[in-house]
Amino acid sequence: MNRPETTGIKDQYGRAFRTLRVSLLQHCNLGCVYCVAGEDEVRQAGTDRDGDSLAVGDLLAIIRRLHGQLQLDNIRLTGGEPLLYPGLASLIAGIREAGIAAIRLTTNGFLLERQAAALRNAGLEALNVSLDAIDEGVFFRMSRRRSAARVIGGIDAALQAGLDVKINAVIMKGMNDLQVLPLLDFAFSRKVRIRFLEVMAMGHLHNHAGQYLVTQEEILHAIGERHRIEPLPRELSATARYWKTEQGQVFGIIANESEPFCRDCDRLRLDSHGRIYGCLSSNQPLHLDLEETEQEWNDKLETALAQKQPLRFTGSDLSMLKIGG
Ligand code: SAM
Repeated sequence: MNRPETTGIKDQYGRAFRTLRVSLLQHCNLGCVYCVAGEDEVRQAGTDRDGDSLAVGDLLAIIRRLHGQLQLDNIRLTGGEPLLYPGLASLIAGIREAGIAAIRLTTNGFLLERQAAALRNAGLEALNVSLDAIDEGVFFRMSRRRSAARVIGGIDAALQAGLDVKINAVIMKGMNDLQVLPLLDFAFSRKVRIRFLEVMAMGHLHNHAGQYLVTQEEILHAIGERHRIEPLPRELSATARYWKTEQGQVFGIIANESEPFCRDCDRLRLDSHGRIYGCLSSNQPLHLDLEETEQEWNDKLETALAQKQPLRFTGSDLSMLKIGG
């Protein structure tokens, strides 16, 4: 893609912010084992109403101004669970009006069946649905809630509404590692791209992720037992690498551990309280205040850019639930 030059916020590796991930709220209707530690935290994640989460108008004002300063290529709405955010469709319509070319969303799909058409009408084009198992018992083990069938209903509704759907599956040793092939079969049956994720050392897993890690090589080995596969070239700034089967079906792996992708990372994160993070590894958000001058925002954006790691993610106590996955 031909990109216009940025306004000059660039680091020594030539990295700039071109992608904005917005965490709309910090609560969720699932309790996935990689996000929250136990049932208490799950209940908290489900009931924490996040009183000071930004309203649509305030979020749009921040997004418009960031777009003015950074000329963003795309924006991804996430959370928490973004489909729980009141006014999601009007937020999407407002972002479209602001002129950001690509608007995407990451969801657990639980509420998708009833929202898919409205989101498409508002201007959403693409979404990633998190689905870690097809087997209902394993789905419950991963998410502490039922059911996979409901998420699959959401995926089908999204496809019917004309949305471009991808599936994301975090694969964890001893938890859902036997679901790689059933998930792959499901994705191929719907002609949808699936990406398998290596688990990241975040939140309560900060110091324990290693015991659950299923590596890119292990995932490829499992798939290679069934399919002949060949790698495809990596796209600039992409988190996923892709492979193609003999039948031309494509799947991806997001291998944060085995094949880190910090070197050309272009993501800026905005949380539900109006704070920015330049990197998932950083626990030091910078608060954006609309009263501040453009120069002050510029200084903060430069500080955020300096938070990026040169090569690899170094782990964080923050859960993706808070910072946005
Ligand atoms: N609720 C939405 C969902 O489930 O897609 C959006 C937020 S959720 C935090 C987004 C995604 O973050 C999860 O599905 C998962 O892919 C990813 N995620 C969260 N914690 C992770 C971890 N420790 N390692 C790898 N991926 C993680």
